[in-house]
Amino acid sequence: MDPLPTVLLKPGEADRIVAGHPWIYRGEIFRVTTQPADGELVQVKDHRQRFLGVGFFNARSKINVRLLSSERIEINEKYFEGQIRAALAVRQRQLPSATSFRVVNAESDFLSGLIVDKYEDILVVQISSLGMDKRKALIVAALQKIFSPRAILERGDVASRKFEGLEGVGGILVGELNGPVSVELNGLKFETDLVGGHKTGLYLDQQTNYQAVAQFAKGAQVLDCFSFLGGFGLHAARAGAAHVHLLDQSAEAVAASQRNAAANGLADKCSFGAVNVFDWLKAQTAVQPHEKVIPRFDLIVLDPPSFTRNRASVPDALRGYKEIHLRALKLLKAGGTLATFCCSHHVDATTFQDVILSAAYDTRRILRRVATYSQSPDHPVIPMIPETEYLKGFAFEVVR
Ligand code: SAH
Repeated sequence: MDPLPTVLLKPGEADRIVAGHPWIYRGEIFRVTTQPADGELVQVKDHRQRFLGVGFFNARSKINVRLLSSERIEINEKYFEGQIRAALAVRQRQLPSATSFRVVNAESDFLSGLIVDKYEDILVVQISSLGMDKRKALIVAALQKIFSPRAILERGDVASRKFEGLEGVGGILVGELNGPVSVELNGLKFETDLVGGHKTGLYLDQQTNYQAVAQFAKGAQVLDCFSFLGGFGLHAARAGAAHVHLLDQSAEAVAASQRNAAANGLADKCSFGAVNVFDWLKAQTAVQPHEKVIPRFDLIVLDPPSFTRNRASVPDALRGYKEIHLRALKLLKAGGTLATFCCSHHVDATTFQDVILSAAYDTRRILRRVATYSQSPDHPVIPMIPETEYLKGFAFEVVR
C-alpha cells in the first residue's frame, strides 16, 4: 500500500474520533506532514502518533477530514461494494418487506458525503463531499454490481456541496428514465418525480411512521397538514379513516397526492387544499370573542418542513411550531390524536415537546403522550454522531 499523507491532531482532539465520530475540523489539526491534495486519502494520528484511521482530506471545507475507517484500507470498487452491501443488510434486517428505502445514509453508514436511495429499480445518488465526488465512478460501478438498477440518477442540488467546493450537478448516470416512477411504501403506491421532486423524490424517513400514525385513523376525521404526496393522509385513509383532508401549499404536490389517492382507490375519502397551512389554520380557528372554535378532527398530522437552517433561526422556528400546534389543538376533539413531527436537527426532542406543551397550556388542553417517533431505520441513528439524528415526533391524545 502507498504511504499516505499524515494528519496529526492536537492533544485532546482524538477522543471524539476514537468514539466513532468521522469529522475532523480544521482547528483540531496540529500538523500535516506532506500536504495532501484535496480529495486525497490521508491517515490520521493523535498527537502521540497513534494511528486513528483513514479518510478523505479537503482543505476547502471546514471539515478537513472525513474519516472512513479506523483501519488502513484501500479505497476501490471492492471497498464501496462491501460498505454498501453492509448498509443494505441493515435495511434488509430492519425493513424486510420494503422495496424503496435509503440504502446509504452518509455518516449513519460511515460513508460521510454519500447518500443512496432506492426507489424500486431506480437508484438516486447524492454526493456532498469532494472525496466521494472524485470516486463517483467506483461508487456507480459498485451500485451496478449490487443492484443491476434500471437507472442511476444523480441529485447534486444540495447546499452542502458548496462547502466542499463542488458545483451543482444532476442527471442520469446510468440507464434511462422518462417520467415519474411509481414507488411503493407499505403497499401503497406513490407517483414520484425523481428528477425534480423534494429531497431525492420522497420522504423515505417517514416510511415506518406512516404505518404507526395510521393506527389512530380508524373511523376518524383526519387532517394531514404539509401533506406533500399524501404519505400520512393516504395511509390513514387505507387504515379506515372516515375522511381525510390533505393540505399543502404546493399545487404540484397536491395534484400528485390527488393522483396517488386515485391510484390507490382512496379518492372518495379524500379532499385536498393547495393552501398555506398557517393561513388555513388561522382562518379555521378565527372566532368572535364570545364564540368557541368547534373541534372537528379526530386525528391531525403536522409534518412541516424544517423551519430552521441554522441555530440563529431557532427562535423564529419555535414560534412557527407553537402557532400551528395552538391552532391544531383547538381543532382536535377531546380523545383525538395529534401526531406531530420536527425534522430540524437544531430543535431537540425536549425543546420540541416544550413548545407543544406551551401550546397545550394556552389552549387549556391536557395531553397524554401515546407514542414517540424517530426517523425510519434506513436513516440509522448513531448516537456517537449526533448529526445523524434529526427527525422526532410524538403522538398525543387529547385527554380534555
Ligand atoms: N408529510 C410529507 C412531507 C412534508 S414535507 C410526507 O410525509 O411526505 C413539507 C411539505 O410542506 C412540502 O410538501 C411543502 O410543499 C409543504 N409546505 C411548506 N410550507 C408550507 C406552508 N406554509 N403551508 C403548506 N404547506 C407547506
